[in-house]
Formats: sequence, C-alpha cells, structure tokens
Amino acid sequence: MKTALVTGASRGIGAAIAKRLAADGMFVYVNYSKSREAAERLAVEIGGKAICADVSCETDVKRMIEHITTERGGVDILVNNAGISMIKMLCDTTSEDWDRIFGVNMRGAYLVAKAAMEKMVSNKYGRIVNISSMWGEVGASCEVAYSASKAALIGFTKALAKELSLSGITVNCVTPGVIDTEMNSHFYDDVIAELTEEIPLGRIGKPEEIAEVVSFLCSDSAKYITGQTVGVSGGMII
Ligand code: NAP
Repeated sequence: MKTALVTGASRGIGAAIAKRLAADGMFVYVNYSKSREAAERLAVEIGGKAICADVSCETDVKRMIEHITTERGGVDILVNNAGISMIKMLCDTTSEDWDRIFGVNMRGAYLVAKAAMEKMVSNKYGRIVNISSMWGEVGASCEVAYSASKAALIGFTKALAKELSLSGITVNCVTPGVIDTEMNSHFYDDVIAELTEEIPLGRIGKPEEIAEVVSFLCSDSAKYITGQTVGVSGGMII
C-alpha cells in the first residue's frame, strides 16, 4: 500500500484529495496546522492519520517526515496543497504579508518536497503534485503576492521535474480556477456571480474535480507525464 501525504488537508481541496487518494487504495497522512479536529475526523473516515505541521516551519516539516518515515518508511506520493490567500493591493502589502504568503505557498512546498523526496530517490519511485492556481499563470489584480507565489510554484514544478526525472519521480502542477471552498467564502454573492459569468462552463468548480486530476497524476496511467501544469478552471483560463 503506497503512502501519501497531503498538506493542508483538513478541509477544502486538500480534504477532497485525501479522500480520493484513500479511495484509490493509499494510506493517507492528513496534514494540518491549526484545524486538528477536522483533520482527525477526516483521518478516521478514510483510515489514514492526521499529522500536524506548519509547512512553512522547517523544524515542523522535518519532524513530520521523520514521523512518517518511522511509521511507514517514508512518503511515496506528495501533494503540496497547503496554501493561503490574501486580497491586498501591492501598495498595501507589507514585507511581513509577502513573507507569510511565500512562506506557506512556496517555501512550504520546497521544505516538504525536499524532506519527502529522500525516500522517493532511494526507491526510484515517487509522485509530487503541487497545487498552484490559475492566478499563477495569468496574475490577479489585488493578489500580486499570491499570484507571484503560485507562479513560483509552477517554475519550481518544472525545474524539479527535470532534476528528479532520472530518479523515477514525476513532478506536476495543477492550477485550479475558482473552487467552492472556505478560501472563497469571504466573497460576496455578487462577486461570485461576476466570476461565474467569466467561466465558460458556467459554474464554480468543486474540490472533488481537482482531486480527480490529482488522482490521475498520481496513478500509473500518468507515468509518462512530468513537469506539466494542468489547468482545472472550467475554461476560465484557456
Ligand atoms: P482552504 O479551504 O482555505 O484550506 C486551506 C488548507 O491549508 C487548510 O487545510 C489549512 O489547514 C491548510 N493550511 C494553511 N496554512 C497551512 C500551513 N502553514 N501548514 C499546513 N497547512 C496549512 O483552501 P482551499 O481553497 O482548499 O485551497 C487549497 C489549495 O488550492 C491552496 O494552495 C490554494 O491556494 C489552492 N487554490 C484554491 C483555489 C480556490 O478557488 N479555492 C483556487 C486556486 C488554487 P489549517 O486550518 O489546519 O491551517
């Protein structure tokens, strides 16, 4: 049974991915930083384990991977999903805001991938999927820090894919559009209605629709796909 680690899996897209990978037959670690109860509930539901770590903290990440290595020999499948957003114009964005966004969205992915890939390299097998955003591809006004961090994650995916290709590890990226999760819960109905009008398929996406694509990228059917960015935005970005 393969071991998967999904970061930021206590709710939203990460929770849907954790459920889907468990349904695919994997043992899934449900990572969280604050939402312990939700993570533990989900872990019980899917027969996995909740594991606490702030992905932006190197000590936390090392401890998390050491724990998984002791319990199950390491991580075979890593989904870097943990992420935070912020709506602010650049002129109002402080350097602390900038570091916080990059800390979770980019440094987090770097820290977890670096720690987890050790076992993948020695096994000559592994799958890494990074959850970026369509804003990382095209940029969003009032979300410069977020867009830049997600663009960095796309570059990280491409470079790491090349670096790990001879080790039998694929590294891919998924760029969701507007997905119905808590991250978007602060938007007023009229904003959601405006966004929906811009989506060719005519609706907001569901977390499970991201999970489907991640599941495929983690499967044997995707063994010849690496370094790719797969857009799941209902056609909002074409
Ligand atoms: P969400 O509902 O806000 O969930 C975020 C998850 O990340 C939570 O489980 C949260 O757990 C965890 N998290 C946050 N900071 C963390 C940290 N420092 N360490 C570990 N876990 C952390 O967000 P979502 O909408 O599901 O988004 C998931 C990913 O998809 C993010 O990377 C986001 O940027 C990306 N995305 C989302 C959308 C969208 O429309 N929803 C679109 C494009 C891309 P705790 O509460 O325990 O911290």
